[in-house]
Amino acid sequence: MKYVLVTGGVVSGLGKGVTASSIGVVLKACGLRVTSIKIDPYLNTDAGTMSPFEHGEVFVLDDGGEVDLDLGNYERFLDLTLTRDNNITTGKIYQSVLEKERRGDYLGKTVQVVPHITDAIKNWIEAVAVIPVDGKEGPADVCVIELGGTVGDIESMPFIEALRQLSFSVGQDNFCLVHVSLIPVLGVVGEQKTKPTQHSVRELRALGLTPHLLACRSAQPLLGSTKEKLSQFCHVPAGNILNIHDVPNIWHVPLLLRNQNAHHSILKQLNLDLAIPPALEDWTRM
Ligand code: ADP
Repeated sequence: MKYVLVTGGVVSGLGKGVTASSIGVVLKACGLRVTSIKIDPYLNTDAGTMSPFEHGEVFVLDDGGEVDLDLGNYERFLDLTLTRDNNITTGKIYQSVLEKERRGDYLGKTVQVVPHITDAIKNWIEAVAVIPVDGKEGPADVCVIELGGTVGDIESMPFIEALRQLSFSVGQDNFCLVHVSLIPVLGVVGEQKTKPTQHSVRELRALGLTPHLLACRSAQPLLGSTKEKLSQFCHVPAGNILNIHDVPNIWHVPLLLRNQNAHHSILKQLNLDLAIPPALEDWTRM
């Protein structure tokens, strides 16, 4: 199994869900079978009891699971039928660990965030990633994992640590990290500011995760000089810096990725030598 992890920096509501779904679309167009997992680092067991004014629609899956709206994006973008287990929350993880503790499964050990919660997260991810969700038999080729929230949040720390361990155990050819960040424009000069992204990448690296691609959200397309600066200070090759500027319709986002050859960068990182279907390369460029 290959994993593509999508994290977010600077602010929430950046478009990680749309970016992760769109990455799934371009990988699927390359002939790969894709599944997805959404991690929500809140303590609610599921989104069913949460105000739609705060989190948007509660998406109801075929199995009755009440989950984050991003799972709706995954199902629509990728034509999947996900299960309630494809949405991991802190509440679900703690519930499973506490149930095990009450059963005595830990054999008298002190139950701790590291390693028990982090192990539960890793095991959950690895178990859910192999559930077929596209109507075919057997596990998918790639699992796109979206980590909700913003890197640096206290809530997401156990997930970051679990994902760091996962990246190490699956090996670098099987793990690609795409960090979604914000490039704001400040002042009358209208300069695109890279500093918030530099800080969030630094934070991610301090936690042991290195981004392979940056997906930069901005109002207008990124300037060449902004890209160069990001590449130099964030230690990401310029070709792996993607620009996802505001578009009138989120269905344009997979095209933005395709136009910037995001699939080539991701396949290279995942060490997948696929023949890219001509239709993917020859579409009329936007
Ligand atoms: P997150 O997962 O980071 O919370 P979402 O993927 O839910 O963010 O997106 C937040 C909002 O931004 C949604 O309403 C989505 O439609 C919108 N959005 C995301 N990407 C873009 C884009 N490139 N252009 C315009 N709107 C976008």
